[in-house]
Amino acid sequence: MFTNNTIQGFANVETPFYYYDLSVLKNTLDACRDASSKYGFHVHYAMKANFNPKVIDMVQSYGFGADCVSGNEVKAAINHGFSKNKVVFAGVGKSDKEINEALDADIFCFNVESVQELEIINELAAAKGKVAGVAIRINPNVDAHTHHFITTGLDENKFGINTWQLNDVADTLRKLSHINFLGIHFHVGSQITDMEVFRNLCNRINEIQDWFEGRGFNVKILNAGGGLGVDYYHPDTNVPDFESYFKVFSQFLNVKPGQEVHFELGRALVAQSASLIARVLYVKNGQKKNFLILDAGMTELMRPMLYQAYHAIENLSQRSEKHSQPNPNHSLVKYDVVGPICESTDCFRKDVELPQSFRGDLIAIRTAGAYGEVMASNYNLRDKVQSVYADSSI
Ligand SMILES: *Cc1c(COP(=O)(O)O)cnc(C)c1O
Repeated sequence: MFTNNTIQGFANVETPFYYYDLSVLKNTLDACRDASSKYGFHVHYAMKANFNPKVIDMVQSYGFGADCVSGNEVKAAINHGFSKNKVVFAGVGKSDKEINEALDADIFCFNVESVQELEIINELAAAKGKVAGVAIRINPNVDAHTHHFITTGLDENKFGINTWQLNDVADTLRKLSHINFLGIHFHVGSQITDMEVFRNLCNRINEIQDWFEGRGFNVKILNAGGGLGVDYYHPDTNVPDFESYFKVFSQFLNVKPGQEVHFELGRALVAQSASLIARVLYVKNGQKKNFLILDAGMTELMRPMLYQAYHAIENLSQRSEKHSQPNPNHSLVKYDVVGPICESTDCFRKDVELPQSFRGDLIAIRTAGAYGEVMASNYNLRDKVQSVYADSSI
């Protein structure tokens, strides 16, 4: 991602900024499209992972759908050219205003997370003389074996409808005349790299679709959600394992004639395409600890502080010219890499081994394309983080 030319080009750019390598994004999207189209699977992009306009536009150009979790995301998807027939609206707390706007936009499907929400969508659709397409988000009680902060598919999570409530769902669906039941939806967590989890999910989806079909419902859509993980430890391994991922579903999902299989990938599509670039403001050498104080912090990239997420950290200024690797002549020093924000948690990672670093050095925090820029805030009245794009190889 970083040639010496690229790094030299950063010299005059004000830090911090997100550096998007659109050729990485393109390679990733190519791989996802190729792997999914083999089986006729439909991919929606989970827009909450990154709604940078250039990113959305490139994703949209691949013909993917959009998975939105707010009314504004629904609007953004439509404004960026996603076909309304490919826009789905998920989320555990959709407001009446958001539901009304999505009904006005004639989106394809609401992923519904409770019986009460189903009744409200029916009521609001009836008032407009419309029929809303819905998929029921079901909590399959599949353990994603991922960090407990980002697991969503267990019974104790706030998301989805638990299986013991399905009788209630079926009764309600039968009563509501402004609801068109399209199918069932699942999303068991994020940053999942163990394919066994998706295999377990397939088994649960098979059981649950049988349950619905056994009660006379036609399940047209099987939506397996997102959650495919990326390799945060090897940020130059650009393309996640889409092949294995889709293959699991092709092998273990019981897809009936006429059924469509949908996915909602966020992180896997965008994570490796960006790094957060910051400068060292100060180096503080303590007796027990050395600190690198950067000009970026939790206001630019919150994942490490929010859920102890790992990001590879590189000093771009202290690499050997030839190899674009850490300079072997530099001995490694352990630093706590921290931001400038007035919070003790504003630390990217403790004890990061880096070449000896100096004020003014450029630091790259890698694999920051998903849940990075979108979570930026202006806490401490910070400037909005800027974006820089490289697309020379496209
Ligand atoms: C966040 C989210 C996704 C995308 O998750 P990734 O881990 O980024 O792939 C998909 N579906 C729903 C319902 C979500 O909330």
